[in-house]
Amino acid sequence: MKVFKFGGASVSSVERIKNVAAILRTYSNERLVVIISAMGKTTNALEKVTEAFFRGEKDQALQLFEGIKQQHLTTAKYLLVENYNPCYKQLMDFFTEVEWLLHDKPVRNYDYYYDQVVCVGELLSTGIVSHYLNEAGVKNHWLDVRDILRTDDNFRDAGVDWAYTEEKIRMTVESGEKMTDDSRQMTGKRGIYLTQGFIGSTDENESTTLGREGSDYTAAIFANLLDAESLTIWKDVEGVMSADPKQFPEATFISDLSFNEVIEMAYYGAQVIHPKTIKPLQNKNIPLHVKCFTDASLPGTTISNKKVKHLPPIVVIKEKQVLMHLHSQDFSFVGEKPMSRLYEMFAQLRFRPNLVQTGAISVQLCLDEHPDKVDQLAADASSIFDVELERGLSLLKIRYFNNDLL
Ligand code: ASP
Ligand code: MG
Repeated sequence: MKVFKFGGASVSSVERIKNVAAILRTYSNERLVVIISAMGKTTNALEKVTEAFFRGEKDQALQLFEGIKQQHLTTAKYLLVENYNPCYKQLMDFFTEVEWLLHDKPVRNYDYYYDQVVCVGELLSTGIVSHYLNEAGVKNHWLDVRDILRTDDNFRDAGVDWAYTEEKIRMTVESGEKMTDDSRQMTGKRGIYLTQGFIGSTDENESTTLGREGSDYTAAIFANLLDAESLTIWKDVEGVMSADPKQFPEATFISDLSFNEVIEMAYYGAQVIHPKTIKPLQNKNIPLHVKCFTDASLPGTTISNKKVKHLPPIVVIKEKQVLMHLHSQDFSFVGEKPMSRLYEMFAQLRFRPNLVQTGAISVQLCLDEHPDKVDQLAADASSIFDVELERGLSLLKIRYFNNDLL
């Protein structure tokens, strides 16, 4: 079993969806689970819908949603040959679900509504792609991942119930595997399982999401629980680069990397892969391939447990950073007591510093610009330190520095 993940950019246009079909056709003899994101910038657009709804601007929310609807219907019309393809009925059901919700008044918190609305992006996209692939002869079986991936109700950053999810995944995929070829053809359960990334559901059937850019993580969960041979993430770049080529044109391609390296790069803000993706793969020693969907013949990057020597300098920039300067109030050293209190504050806020520098009577913390947490931490810390904030900074991380960089 192999797991593939195609991100939003790989299904952002009719041509690109056709390209996904061309790639999958070359893997027709493989047992595959394919995870697909929402098309292009759909998630951002659905966020706007939720914001309008939550502000009480129902008409605005419905109008914005209408735009998303039309875009998906147009894409479906360009792709599908049959006018009566069951795809349209499936899309209509998803549209209606959201529209019903938008007609109500918000009575629960924002994060709950966010997940109920935003999850539809992946459902629409996988619905269209799955029906198109079946018409185009790439037989696949569409799964609603919300029937499989169970989470808690920490909306927008839901935690996975691994035990339940494992049982469900195995039951679903293995029951399909055991069928004879004939019955698979009858039920459509052949070859490829196609499903959504990023979303899940609680034991009360409420939709949840795993955090922005979470489809990589879903793909890693599937790979882990199915003991997959490998995970391939298809992207619009050649593979992993030593820096963001848009900012550093001299960035070079890296063919092999270790999980250790990639988790540090992702943590410091490299846009390669969602940081949560690595642990489920590393724990089961499942290699991760990053390949280019516009040129599948390129070798791509392989990330595994193998140590890699002689890496080029790797440069990662994390934007929207805040530097918090903490200064001892009575000139006493910043020892373990104030530091452990500081870490208790972090734990309470479920927040983490990106970088900590301690001095004799001061501490510097580099933090993500989180809308509430930074100010709350500053308020809490002011009980033991004098606090100063510097905002709008970038954190530059260089690994394997050498003089060529100067
Ligand atoms: N569609 C979601 C997002 O844009 C998840 C993903 O693409 O990974 O954040
Ligand atoms: Mg994405």
